[in-house]
Amino acid sequence: MKIVDARTRAVAVPLERPFLAGGLHMIERIPFALLELRTDEGITGLGYAFSLSERPFGSIVAATDALSQEAVGENPLEPERVAAKLGRAFGWAGPVGVVNMAMAAVDFALWDIAGKAYGQPLYRLLGGHRDRVPCYYSGALWRDFGLEELEGAARAVLDLGFRSMKMRMGSEPPRGEEERARVVREAIGPEADLLVDINQGWTPYHAIRMGRMLERYEFGWLEDPVDHRDVAGSARVAAALDMPVCAGEYHYGKEPFLRLLNAQAMDIAMVDLLRVGGVTEWRKAAALAETFTVPVASHLLPEIAVHLVAAVPNGLTVEYMPWSLPLFLETPRVQDGMMVLPHAPGLGLELDEEKVARWSI
Ligand SMILES: [Mg+2]
Repeated sequence: MKIVDARTRAVAVPLERPFLAGGLHMIERIPFALLELRTDEGITGLGYAFSLSERPFGSIVAATDALSQEAVGENPLEPERVAAKLGRAFGWAGPVGVVNMAMAAVDFALWDIAGKAYGQPLYRLLGGHRDRVPCYYSGALWRDFGLEELEGAARAVLDLGFRSMKMRMGSEPPRGEEERARVVREAIGPEADLLVDINQGWTPYHAIRMGRMLERYEFGWLEDPVDHRDVAGSARVAAALDMPVCAGEYHYGKEPFLRLLNAQAMDIAMVDLLRVGGVTEWRKAAALAETFTVPVASHLLPEIAVHLVAAVPNGLTVEYMPWSLPLFLETPRVQDGMMVLPHAPGLGLELDEEKVARWSI
């Protein structure tokens, strides 16, 4: 089988409060570079990458377009060979920003083609450890929400069928974090799982002091309390608290995970599918964590990540962030707080072409 054509399109998905808002700053739409690789056997593979802001987005579209052209003529069933060729074409010097994200988009499309060629959903090609996985709702409890809006959003997430959710803290200036924790915990009750993401907002000593307070509200993890480059600082926080520290999403490639694991800088590894370089590299980062008996959680793109978390033995949970979901006709459903793996071959995703046309940029 051979790739005969690569096409990249750009769309922007509009967001609405409270479920589709967010990030560190409130954003109104998220731009995606959509890639389709077509083969000589009539199979088409889908991949994509995105950016949280539209200004750097042009570089992601350009990199995805340029890299995917390098894949034309290659066998899509050989993702390692294609990755090596793409790396060489760009003077491979290790995992680098936008190039890694474009490599991920190509890698998604290759695995999608492989699944369709073999007639199996991606999670089975990767190991098929189980067919449903825990997940948590990520896109609702934002930093700029007042107490009342937080409470309403927390209840609304439970009504969607989730048993676990994540809130954000670490605003500058601080915004009564204990009160915010209490309001959400009371809204969802003691049975639901609650996680918190600081997005690198604290210093290690502040994180330890705040972490001790947050432990009283039974948070399941404290995510990225400090700057991702401060590996020793993250290790200090992890050692000082009983609450697990989750980290990793800001790192490019798999190599930084070995450093984080050796330093005991995290109790739970979070691996970003785009920054790590796609499905092929995500598995390797997860395997590194497995050798340290560290569980692995996904970051964004739940419709792809669900396959990875289901396939590896140390898969912990899927971040259910809805930003990308409106692009597709159907996405994996959530039942009793678990994501159910799709049976369709490959990624199991079909673009909603009507929306893609409407949201084209
Ligand atoms: Mg995060």
